[in-house]
Parts: sequence; structure tokens; C-alpha cells
Amino acid sequence: PSPPPADLLGSLNKEQHQALLCHNRPLIMAAGPGTGKTRTITAKIAWLIKEQKISPDAILALTFTNRAAREMKERIQTLLPESPAQVCACTFHAFGLMILKEYTDFSSAIVDDTLRLSLLEETLTHQAFSRQALSLDQADTLISRAKQQGLQPGDPLDFIQDIAMEKMVNQVWQEYQKRLESLDLVDFEDLINKVLALLTHDPSLVTTLQKRFQHLFVDEYQDVNKGQYLLTKCLAGNGDTLCVIGDPDQSIYGFRGSDNRYFRQFIEDYPRALNISLKQNYRSTETILEASHQMLTQRGKQRDEKESRVKLFSNIHGKDTVMILKSASERAEAVAVGKTIEKLTGGLSLFSMDTNRIDASQEEDFSFSDFAVLYRTRKQGAVFAEVLEKAGIPCHMAHRENTLLQPGIKEPLALMKIGCQKGTLTDFELLLDYFKTGTGKKSREHLKRWFQEQNCPLNTALGRLTSLPPKGMRRDIHEKICHCTAKILTAAEAAKEQSSHRALDHFSNLWDLSHLIKAEKKRTDTLERLLMEAQAIPDPAAFLDHVCLVGDVDTLAPQAEKVALMTMHASKGLEFKVVFITGCETGLIPFSRPDKNGAPTPLSALALAEERRLFYVAMTRAQSILCVSHADKRRIYGKTIKTSKSPFVYDIEEKLKAQSQNRFKPQPKKEKNRQLELFQDA
Ligand code: ATP
Ligand code: MG
Repeated sequence: PSPPPADLLGSLNKEQHQALLCHNRPLIMAAGPGTGKTRTITAKIAWLIKEQKISPDAILALTFTNRAAREMKERIQTLLPESPAQVCACTFHAFGLMILKEYTDFSSAIVDDTLRLSLLEETLTHQAFSRQALSLDQADTLISRAKQQGLQPGDPLDFIQDIAMEKMVNQVWQEYQKRLESLDLVDFEDLINKVLALLTHDPSLVTTLQKRFQHLFVDEYQDVNKGQYLLTKCLAGNGDTLCVIGDPDQSIYGFRGSDNRYFRQFIEDYPRALNISLKQNYRSTETILEASHQMLTQRGKQRDEKESRVKLFSNIHGKDTVMILKSASERAEAVAVGKTIEKLTGGLSLFSMDTNRIDASQEEDFSFSDFAVLYRTRKQGAVFAEVLEKAGIPCHMAHRENTLLQPGIKEPLALMKIGCQKGTLTDFELLLDYFKTGTGKKSREHLKRWFQEQNCPLNTALGRLTSLPPKGMRRDIHEKICHCTAKILTAAEAAKEQSSHRALDHFSNLWDLSHLIKAEKKRTDTLERLLMEAQAIPDPAAFLDHVCLVGDVDTLAPQAEKVALMTMHASKGLEFKVVFITGCETGLIPFSRPDKNGAPTPLSALALAEERRLFYVAMTRAQSILCVSHADKRRIYGKTIKTSKSPFVYDIEEKLKAQSQNRFKPQPKKEKNRQLELFQDA
């Protein structure tokens, strides 16, 4: 192969360079956080296109989040500004959908959570198993698990020990799957499973895909589940052009059926593979690295793994780069985070911290986008959003679902979905709500049962509604619903003929949202973003698929000058100058569900180890300052309970930590203003 150009090469170290040049040989890069794995594969992809003259269409890069896929595309684009063609970089799910659409007559919609659970519930009721024997939650988890293993309904479910349970789950699964099919719906796991089934039955398609995607890359390979593993294996053929990267210490999706065993067995799967390990971290200060290493290894207690783990170095130094922040309550914690951000951005701070520690490490300039606030459960995000925004600190939360479910967004989307034959009962019902049809609980039940009996996609059923009134429904209500349905269908019809951008724009203006004034800004933000996405995907059906598929982190526009709020899970692969890990308390970190009295239930050794790795992922996102924050009391399930510091924090040596007590001491001299008052009431 010809030598890579200086601009690609100059930015890689010796091992990274070696990985870039690895040719016609399976490649695995197993290395710790911040060592440049992702950077190396992006450079490699750019090099393949630029120097090896590989067509971008022949390159497939699979990732776990949409954000990772987008970032990869952007980085390649930066490296190859003159190349207009795009590499196919997407999530496993998006890839599954693409294959189904291109190679079959697939047109199903992706089921939403509400409907999925309600279908499962109906199935359980129909099968008449007692909920004691099989709860909705269990059925949901076990069926997902089966699908994640690449199994098909009826296959033996080896991961379930209890034979009676296995039989029940399989029975429920088969019926649930039939229900989905008759409604022309698929769930997330189906997107991969259907492709696997397709490839198993059609070896010629395997050949076609192998020819089409000559180079295959998988980022975060430690997190593949069996289905994704099988798919990768199938696409990779002999593996000579397969490159996977990852870090077993960062595997955090065991609860979703991921298994880092596949990562570890890569060399057995592909004995010719080149295994490259990287030691230099380019992200974090030495103190942050040392603290995260101590936490992960429990200061050397985990001897068995110690030998195989490479200790990283970064040669980046800074004073007091790991801070412990202690607050009285969760609200006070949010205030403390706000204060710290103010202080670090050099903004006019309204508070004197009782420690000047932060100033000591502050040699850099920080802007809002340099900060991330991480937490273990999504619920924790709300108080940060509220407190920071009130204090005039712009921030954005990464949970997409919430924003898509807000009034003024969900209705236009529902209408579009119905127009594209992708609507579900959930969409129809929320439109009935909007049009104030006045249907009460009883009529809704009649309606739901009627839909179940129709057992067909929503639009087909709606076509029968006038002539076939639901049993038991009052006549006036039936008429009202029919009237409303006609309105919905006429409006929705328009979606088919228009570009997604026009349709969304049009629909979003249809709603009388005068009651929304308070939430209007948030709505406008979401709408703007959606419209931008619609511009990029003109076909309405494809746009809706995209909206369904994009996960957690996607609402974060990386350029935006805002503080990022997200779960620890969502932070994987990302980096920020300043990271707050909040709620570092027993019960939350490691996370365990509280029992009836609010006390944490014990975790299995496996679950505990995964929680530790998750904390490791969170810690290693930080470049300059890592702030580990905990509160003395917190509201959990409506009860305020006294909490204690997470045991993980004790695994970090005292001498690495700078302590900061959070007491409120507004500076007396400054004029009292709005921000001050807001912070004071916390
Ligand atoms: P993670 O395991 O957290 O996903 P990673 O191994 O994928 O981490 P990257 O995100 O690729 O790491 O890189 C971490 C940071 O280090 C990035 O900012 C990247 O640009 C920088 N970096 C990586 N390699 C080099 C290098 N050789 N020279 C300078 N900077 C580098
Ligand atoms: Mg990475």
C-alpha cells in the first residue's frame, strides 16, 4: 500500500499508524479510553478512500449510537473535504432497516414503547398465565433477550433455566410476534433479527452484501450482543477486511444482552488477526487517569485481571483535576454544579465558593459546551435542567423521547405517521385527545378491543370504523370519533404527497397551541431541529423511520454552546473538558432498585462489576476536570432519604481528591439579581 499522506499520518502515533496500515488482515484494537481508537479508524477510513482509492460506498462502519455514527461521518468529512460521497456509518439497527428496505418489500413501522407493552399485556391476558408466574416486565425482558441472541420464535431459550418458564415465554413470544405482524409493525430487535433470518435463508444475499461492503468497521465492539455478533460475522466473511475496536473495561450493556466474550474471542474467531494495543491516553490528566484506574481495579484488589490490563499514561498534568463536591440535597447539588460552571466559564460569579481550589486548576478558558453533567438515571436530569436554565446557563438534555412527546410535536408527527401508513393506535388516541372527542375510559376500552378484533394496520381499521361501530360504544360518541377520524385522515392524506419538510412544517402550524406559551421555546427548538432533519431526508416515510431510530444522544448538536446533560450510558465514546458525575451515592452508584423501605436491594457480582465499569466510562470522559458529586439526602420514590457516599468513591485515594464543601455564601456586595434569588431558594 502507498504511504498515507502526512496530514493523516502526522496525527497518529506508532501503534495507531500500524493499525492504519494493516492490510488484508483482520484487525482488533483493544485499548483503554481516550487512546485514540475511534480517531484511528476514522483516519483509516479516510486513508482507504484517499490513498487506496476505495469507494466510500464500499465502506461500512457500525456503531452503537447515532451520535457516534454522525461524529464518525463528520470526522471523515473533515479529513477528506474534497470527497463528496458519504461512507455508510450507522447503528446496527439503522443498518438492519436499510437492508430490509433495500432487499425486501419491507414497509413495516417501528412500534413505540407504549404500544409494544400494551400488545404484550394483551398477549399475556390472552394466554391466561398468572402474572405471578410471568409478569409483564419479565416477559418483556426475556423476549428482548431472546431476540438479542438472534433467536427466532420457537427456538429453545437456553438462557432460561426453568423449563416451565421457557415454555411460557416462548408461547407469549410467538403470539406477540403474530400480533406485531398483523399490525405491520416491528420492534427494535426485529430489525437485526429479520436481517439475520434473511441472510440465513439466502446465501446469495450474503455474497451480495460482502461484495458491496468490502471494508467493515465496528466501534465499541465490546458491546455487541449475539445477534450483532452473528451479523458482523456474516458480513465479514473471512475477516480480512474487518476491523473492530473496543475496550472490555467499558462494556456496559450486559443488561441488554451484550457480552464482551465476543470481543475476547476475536483472535479465536480470526486467528490471523493483528492485535494492536494502545497505551497513551490523549484525553485526560494523569490524576484523572490514576483515579479511574484505582476505582476500576479497586486499588489493585482485582488481581486476576490486573496482569492483562495495560496501564495508561497521558503526560497531561494539572492541579486538582479530580474534585469531590458534597452538597446537602439534590437541589443543592444542582446549584453547586451551576456555581462551578459559572466560576469556570469566568462568568460573573454571584457566589464565593468556600474553596478556591477550582481557581487553582483554572488555567484554561471554558465555554458552556465544554461541560457535561452525567447521572445514573434519566429522572435525575430534570432538576439540573431547571436549576441551570433558571440561572441563565444554557443546557440541553439528551433524551430524545421526552422532546418528541411534547405537545405540539407529537401531534404533527402522529398525523404524518398516519399519512404514511405508519401510525399506530397510540398515534390515533393522542389525536383523539387533542381534538377533545370527550371519549372517556370506557369508550377507549371499547375502541381498543375493537382494534384488537380488527387485527390489522391502523389505516385499514380506520376505514372500517364508520360502518362497523365498536361494540358497546355509545352512538353519539361513535359519531364524534368518526367525524374526528375523517378530519385526521384528510389532513394526514396530505403528508403522502409532500416532502417531509413541507409536511412537518404544514402540520406543525395546524395546531392551536395558545395553551403552550410556557413551553413554547422548548417546542420551537425541537421543531427547528426536526425540520432540519426533514430537510435532509425528503421522503416522509424514511424521515419517520429516522425519527424512530435516533436514540438518546441525538438531540445534542455538538457545536451548540450548551452544557450537556445525559446519562452515564449515553456519554460513552464522548469527551468533555469538565465532567460532573452527579448523585454518587449508595443506591444510585452502583444502581440498585430500592426495596419497599427505600433501601437498595443487593446486586449480583456481575451487575456490580458492570456498574463499576459504567462509573469508569463516566470518569474517563473528563479531559481537564472531573467533579464527583454527592448529596446528603435525596428524594427517591417520593421519600427523602439520607444517603451516603458511593463505595466506588472510596476506591480513589484521598490524596488525589480535592474536596469542596458546598455552602451557599452569596457575595454580599454584589447587587441582588434574579440569578442570585434563584440559587438562594435551593
Ligand atoms: P473511548 O474508549 O473513550 O471511545 P477512544 O480510544 O476512541 O476513546 P478517541 O476518542 O479516538 O479515543 O481519542 C481521544 C482523544 O485523543 C481525541 O480527542 C483524539 O483526537 C485524541 N487523540 C487520539 N490520538 C491522538 C494522537 N495520536 N495525537 C493527538 N491526539 C490524539
Ligand atoms: Mg471511541
